[in-house]
Amino acid sequence: MTIERGAILSRVSTQAPPAIRLRGVVKRYGEITAVAGLDLEVPDGQCVGLLGPNGAGKSTTMRLLTAQAIADEGEITVRGHPLPQRSKPARAEMGVVPQLDNLDTTLTVEQNLVVFSHLYRVPKVRRQAAIERVLDIANLSERREAKVDELSGGMRRRLLIGRALIHEPRLVLLDEPTVGLDPQVRQELWALIDRLRSEGVSMLMSTHYIEEAERLCDSVTIMSHGVAVAVGAPQQLVSQYAGREAVEIYGSPARLAEAEAEMAAQGFPTRRTGTSIAVLGLDDANGRAPAGERRPANLEDVFVLLTGEEIS
Ligand code: ATP
Repeated sequence: MTIERGAILSRVSTQAPPAIRLRGVVKRYGEITAVAGLDLEVPDGQCVGLLGPNGAGKSTTMRLLTAQAIADEGEITVRGHPLPQRSKPARAEMGVVPQLDNLDTTLTVEQNLVVFSHLYRVPKVRRQAAIERVLDIANLSERREAKVDELSGGMRRRLLIGRALIHEPRLVLLDEPTVGLDPQVRQELWALIDRLRSEGVSMLMSTHYIEEAERLCDSVTIMSHGVAVAVGAPQQLVSQYAGREAVEIYGSPARLAEAEAEMAAQGFPTRRTGTSIAVLGLDDANGRAPAGERRPANLEDVFVLLTGEEIS
């Protein structure tokens, strides 16, 4: 279903320029190269996930897109505007949901939206309607008079997302939108993000949560050490790198190390999953698959295989 929707959107959007395009982007901080020649594309109307372990360069990429950081090399365009030259119009056409909650806690929900409606120059005649629309999207109409510090964590995060939508941007950047939230609140936010996606809003979302990327993203870019190591629809990446099924082998640490060596000798990739190892790439095993518990391969397998890191 996800792939079909992505495929349809990409067909529809063949004429539209990409919402975001990075080519060969490099960003250095002294000796450290945070982004090391990144190519990244967000086709118009699609939701693209940016996955990567700590330090992979995701936040730096987000900062480059909001012109809080300037690239040392490469090209960046946002809705056709080259950065950093045209960062002002680019910024005006996108909504930004920061990782850190920077809502004004001394103001009410509605007052926070009023401030942003001015910042984003929503015309006076449309201001109240824009605020009502955001209150509805964020499901906060009943709490409009509440001070921000009276809201739950989930409500604050909904307001943070809603605030980014005040000027009806066609592109939204979401930096770890559900980090630190409990599963139920996370699912509420997924519904909100999915609503935007169904309305054709282009999105770039950095996330640590593989399930979030699998559910919401038409395509994901996996980053490691500042570059893209894999790009594609979640299911496509799974079949390309991990195959249809994984076999989990359990046992003592010594047994696991032995099984890893055996599988490596036979050319099968493996990944650690805490108490077990998962053997991948078994589609053409032709009877050579090891004994163990079978399960469908998933995007987490691909992530660990390509980045060598477990999910934090
Ligand atoms: P996380 O998931 O932990 O947020 P990330 O993928 O967002 O990681 P970045 O924050 O972009 O990664 O960092 C990439 C690299 O650049 C890291 O080695 C980091 O220490 C370094 N870095 C980022 N910002 C700066 C800065 N302002 N000055 C110096 N080094 C920086």
